[in-house]
Amino acid sequence: MKEKHPFDDFGINLFSENIMKERLPHPIYEKWKHAARKDDALDRPTADAIAHAMKTWAMEKGVTHFTHWFQPMTGSTAEKHDSFVEPGDHQQAISRFSGKSLIKGEGDASSFPTGGLRATFEARGYTYWDCTSPAFIRENVLCIPTIFVSYNGETLDKKAPLLKSIEAIDTQATRIVNLFKDKDIKRVLPMVGLEQEYFLVDKSLYAKRKDLMHTGRTLFGSMPPKGQVLKSHYFGSIPSRVSAFMKEVNEELWKLGIYAKTEHNEAAPCQFEIAPLFAETNIAVDQNQIIMDVLKKTADKHQLACLLHEKPFDHVNGSGKHNNWSLVTDDGQNLLEPGDRPHENIRFLLFVCAVIQAVDTYPELLRMAASCYGNDYRLGGHEAPPAIISICMGSHLEEILMKLEKGNESLETNVDTTPFNIANLAYVPKDTSDRNRTSPFAFTGNKFEFRMVGSSRSAATTNVILNTIVADSLKSIGDELQNYKYIDDIRKKALAICQDILCRHKRILFSKDGYSQDWIKEASLRGLPNIECYVDSISALTSDKAVAMFERNHVYSKNELEARSEILYEEFVKEVKVEASVLLDMSKKILLPCLVKELKFYTDAAHSLGVENAYYQKKIKRMVNLLNSFDEKYHILKHALIDRRKCHNNEEKSKYLNAEVVGKMKDLRCIIDAIEEQVSADSYPVPTYEDLFTSIQ
Ligand code: ADP
Ligand code: MG
Repeated sequence: MKEKHPFDDFGINLFSENIMKERLPHPIYEKWKHAARKDDALDRPTADAIAHAMKTWAMEKGVTHFTHWFQPMTGSTAEKHDSFVEPGDHQQAISRFSGKSLIKGEGDASSFPTGGLRATFEARGYTYWDCTSPAFIRENVLCIPTIFVSYNGETLDKKAPLLKSIEAIDTQATRIVNLFKDKDIKRVLPMVGLEQEYFLVDKSLYAKRKDLMHTGRTLFGSMPPKGQVLKSHYFGSIPSRVSAFMKEVNEELWKLGIYAKTEHNEAAPCQFEIAPLFAETNIAVDQNQIIMDVLKKTADKHQLACLLHEKPFDHVNGSGKHNNWSLVTDDGQNLLEPGDRPHENIRFLLFVCAVIQAVDTYPELLRMAASCYGNDYRLGGHEAPPAIISICMGSHLEEILMKLEKGNESLETNVDTTPFNIANLAYVPKDTSDRNRTSPFAFTGNKFEFRMVGSSRSAATTNVILNTIVADSLKSIGDELQNYKYIDDIRKKALAICQDILCRHKRILFSKDGYSQDWIKEASLRGLPNIECYVDSISALTSDKAVAMFERNHVYSKNELEARSEILYEEFVKEVKVEASVLLDMSKKILLPCLVKELKFYTDAAHSLGVENAYYQKKIKRMVNLLNSFDEKYHILKHALIDRRKCHNNEEKSKYLNAEVVGKMKDLRCIIDAIEEQVSADSYPVPTYEDLFTSIQ
């Protein structure tokens, strides 16, 4: 018998479009398609029929429960399981799943942060089926992607605004494409491919570090002297234990219909990356949430711990989530595809300029969207872009854009784009953009890659902002273009619009080394914002400019934005508080006793020798000094943390913690790292960086 191939199970846990087509009466399937395209609302009998088919399909696979799977504003996912079982006649159990249960669920919103959107007397929240993202089975539960809204209809999650932002950009991009006389195009959708970086460490060592367990990162630990050697060593092959883990991750993802494609070692020890094939934004964001969950749960099965934190280890590269983004029409044209002759491709140039205008008008919003407290340790750190937003178009396209800005008649450049000739490979096309890994927002061939996004974050907010700011930019362009009737006039006007945009926004274009100190100076001369701390970027969300832009595009209301910024401040306060408390706790209960014991060991040894021994005296003195500094920094941090209580609200508190506590944690950490170097390896009470980095071999 032929052995089973993992691809044979591709999509078996996904209630995909194909399965719907197969299992639903054709008119029902058609109605669902119209609803998914937002042409029509779903009626009750259609919902009933889909619910029944979904239940039957799931039950055939042994599933007993369903859940309305949603993405609260914390950025994680949430679910409440209900079983299909209902009492039938004669005390028999029957299964039932109605269209009503499929479409709408009612949950207690009070257990999720709402940022003040919900008064306690109306604690109810409702989940509504997102029929554009397929249901799937995880751990024997049928998961139905849903949005989550309050009793008053305000959005309480990350998915609802994402869907609205997709609609906004779809409307504006389609309008422009239609103006360019491509009349049959009905939809333009943003496509997203998310590369996810993560670290793996041995679970038993992870369990010995409370900081890793409770905060996701090491709050102290010094780089082994062999650090650099370790780094280059790990760039090689994937350890077999990790291969087994990746195999299972891939198989699980394939079953869910996710095209997990690339996997490789990253630059840091124990760091890896997984990237599925790009998909419609809504689906890509859902898939990324599923991938993060599958990574964590599969790691656990393999006695590993998967760290999704942006900076689990100091002095080592952090982890990001690269958001590859493009705009694709319903007949498959990528509007960001430059083609062979980009200088003549006016529609392409116009869409690129729309993005340039959007990014330069709202850099603070993008900075905020990509960030979180953990990402502050990564941005501007080792091998990560700084907190300044800039766009790298690559030298060839930048040259074309600069000619356009100057009003040159011909946009042709001297850049050689003829294919390479490599050995016996017949045709190796050359990209129109060179790779610049130091840019936070780079044009990479036929898409933009936003590399600033933190690895632990939901990718939803990033895409809500990206879609909406580009929609807004396209809207102003469309308003100008719509006054022209003939294609030649439209093309001429489009070039004039591009020229105007480039004159006003070329400062955002930067194709050189984004990691260099010179760039920080130059960016400041150009007037580009450099918001170093995440907490200072949160206010961008509620600025008058942002509120007007989001309201104009029907994505967020002012209330919804204020609620979100409140939640972000609250989250920041919680995270710093937990970190500082864990650090204080580990310091007092584990590290201090270790240092005292070690000191006693040396004083006893010195005493037993009975003579003045220069080495021991020196060592003891150093340790006593460390003990004193440790005690001092410990108390400074402790009191700084307590003093947060004097602040009146979360915004004040988070700014206080950022200014007064974060730095003091670093001060204490420096002493702890110095202690690690003084204490013998046998006595050091927690796994060191070296232990962790070598743990998965
Ligand atoms: P890398 O940047 O590491 O070289 P790839 O070029 O393989 O990676 O692509 C990274 C991600 O970008 C993948 O998820 C891929 O599917 C996605 N991607 C490729 N083309 C597009 C596109 N047109 N729109 C959106 N994402 C895309
Ligand atoms: Mg990439």
